[in-house]
Amino acid sequence: MTSKRKLIAGNWKMNGSLAANEALVRALIADANAANCDVAVCVPAPYLAQIAALRAGSKLELGSQDVSRHEQGAYTGEFSAAMLKEFGVRYAIVGHSERRRHHHESNHVVGLKAKAALAQGITPIVCVGETLEDRDAGQTFDVVKRQMAAVIHEVGHCVSELVVAYEPVWAIGTGRTATPEQAQEVHAVIRAQLNPATPHPERVRILYGGSMNAGNAAALLAQRDIDGGLIGGASLKPPDFLQIIAAASAAAK
Ligand code: PEP
Repeated sequence: MTSKRKLIAGNWKMNGSLAANEALVRALIADANAANCDVAVCVPAPYLAQIAALRAGSKLELGSQDVSRHEQGAYTGEFSAAMLKEFGVRYAIVGHSERRRHHHESNHVVGLKAKAALAQGITPIVCVGETLEDRDAGQTFDVVKRQMAAVIHEVGHCVSELVVAYEPVWAIGTGRTATPEQAQEVHAVIRAQLNPATPHPERVRILYGGSMNAGNAAALLAQRDIDGGLIGGASLKPPDFLQIIAAASAAAK
């Protein structure tokens, strides 16, 4: 609903350097502090400590781009929710389409990752979305509902603590954005699925992601069930990201 405090989360993907990160975060902090929405950056794991220090005392929240479904042990290359917690991580993206595609993460694994994050008080940003083939085959709603059902099943009574990001795969990094109507249609389906799953469905923010930028953010964020954005490419360009934050702040008024 439009009355909910919106969330604008940047997904830096595998981009950055110590110098570039510092410049980017310094450019964001004043606006994040003044914004009438929540603002987060989901950064590559090696930079968590750097960004945790840079953001200290500000309202800019820290996120990771993944989390292990396991608590600890022989899982080389993985990092646990408890480790993320030590760096003040507030959000963890789970099930991004790039991880589903390149790392073969199933709906079940995504559900387990969401559960592992919640167990440490970290809010999972659960990504769902259809491929172009799914859309062309008329399967959009079914695909998204299956992805959501696996997560709802795993997290049980914690459904109201999720953030969901609807990210049509064909719109990610392509410059091709879902129209506000296309996005709203799927958000309404997700909202309807959440309703019977929790006594507090209204607490769940459903973000849109997929080539959101300074030019299209306001129209997307004005939709009834779009509660914020997960921003890839545009989150690396301070003027663009700041305009998206401004659009989210204005939409909340
Ligand atoms: C993303 O990585 O989640 C994303 C939405 O990327 P982009 O904004 O670049 O399409």
